[in-house]
Amino acid sequence: MFAQMQDKQLFEQASGYAFEYADQVRERPVYPSESSLAALGEFDAPLPEHLGDPALVLQQLHRVGSPATVAQIGGRYFGMVNGGVVPVGLAARWLSDFWDQNTPLYVTSPVAATLETVTEGWLRELLGLPEQTVAGFVSGSSMAILCGLAAARFRLLQRQGWDINRQGLAGAPTLRIVAGRHAHGTVIKAVAMLGLGTDSIEWVDADDQGRILAEQVPPLDAQTLLILQAGNVNSGAFDDFQTLCRRAREAGSWVHIDGAFGLWAAASESLKHLTAGIELADSFSVDGHKTLNTPYDNGLVLCTDAEALSGALQASGSYILYGEQRDGMLYTPEMSRRARVVELWATLAYLGREGVDQLVTGLHLRARQLAESMGAAGFEIRNEVVFNQVLVGLADDSQIEPLLAAIQSSGECWAGAGRWQDRPVVRVSVCSWATTEADVERTVRAFVSARESLG
Ligand SMILES: *Cc1c(COP(=O)(O)O)cnc(C)c1O
Repeated sequence: MFAQMQDKQLFEQASGYAFEYADQVRERPVYPSESSLAALGEFDAPLPEHLGDPALVLQQLHRVGSPATVAQIGGRYFGMVNGGVVPVGLAARWLSDFWDQNTPLYVTSPVAATLETVTEGWLRELLGLPEQTVAGFVSGSSMAILCGLAAARFRLLQRQGWDINRQGLAGAPTLRIVAGRHAHGTVIKAVAMLGLGTDSIEWVDADDQGRILAEQVPPLDAQTLLILQAGNVNSGAFDDFQTLCRRAREAGSWVHIDGAFGLWAAASESLKHLTAGIELADSFSVDGHKTLNTPYDNGLVLCTDAEALSGALQASGSYILYGEQRDGMLYTPEMSRRARVVELWATLAYLGREGVDQLVTGLHLRARQLAESMGAAGFEIRNEVVFNQVLVGLADDSQIEPLLAAIQSSGECWAGAGRWQDRPVVRVSVCSWATTEADVERTVRAFVSARESLG
């Protein structure tokens, strides 16, 4: 017969595997070995015909799957901007997985709605955003950017007497989009998905750190959406919000800030100068799963214009009854949604203001340590390490590719390829709170050995 939720053995088996994984993760290869990857072929099996043994399903998943994971929680994974995981966030998620809540409305999950309200307030406080800011709990920044730009589209067109929801885009008044050359690919994707057309983007050149050149931003007006960035995905640089948000506000433009990992600088006493002026923007996208180290997937759209956000995302139907209390689907594109706020709430409830500051500042300090040690070991550091990103180069560009291959196959650490100022670099993103000073030293040694292996 079917396995039951009360069959604790199954869950004990899973937690046993999970603990075994956690115990070994710091010493196993950071990237799966060739043989572990080859073993994934075992999953290429026909759909089973008959009811199976759940214990065997889990056993296979652990035996074949666990060794083929990227050791993201171990402290020496520096790819993308992936982040590790704060244990209490993961533990809270385990518990909430048993709840299996669906969170469109207050009535479908009072506990999730309550935690969303509380967490929304905490985020305003931590990031220094205006009192009226609302939060939508989405899967990540890609979705958050889409929501923020949809709110901008709704409001900017509405001010010109156009209802985008009813009238659509055909024949709509002009909507200008101004963005820096270094805007993230997901921003460009959102512009495309919203039917605004990437050809219509008025591109502004960036300085040598990837910051939009404020003096080259064209005149702004009430038909303009200005897209800025807190944390360039390569260099970690921040745009000049103070100058640009003020100018946008005077012109009646809408500002969206893509702060996927960088917005958290606002929660660090020593780094918050980087985000000065963000409180004048209209919408923001930020991830929990990157800098804050919540489990995946966890992103947020924050918007100071609640009506524009819910106007852009609202759905109706005879069985959807919005209530007096918080209905989460007003602020997200989805209807059914898991209670991802739980792990975010738990992480913030545990860390508090001081803990978040320490986490964010710690990533910066490890990045600085890494840059200094790499520099001392003869590598070239190509960016100003203002946050968590370090771009490592060699005098001879042709050596970067073999260097990366040697680093990645060492299993000691993992970093990805990048291009900066038209030159190839190794892109190191320090974004896990599990990364210690010793991890940084070990990583630098791995880089040095890899370079030596090139002869
Ligand atoms: C990661 C990232 C995104 C996309 O975020 P997801 O959470 O992966 O959807 C957007 N912008 C920047 C700057 C990023 O670093």
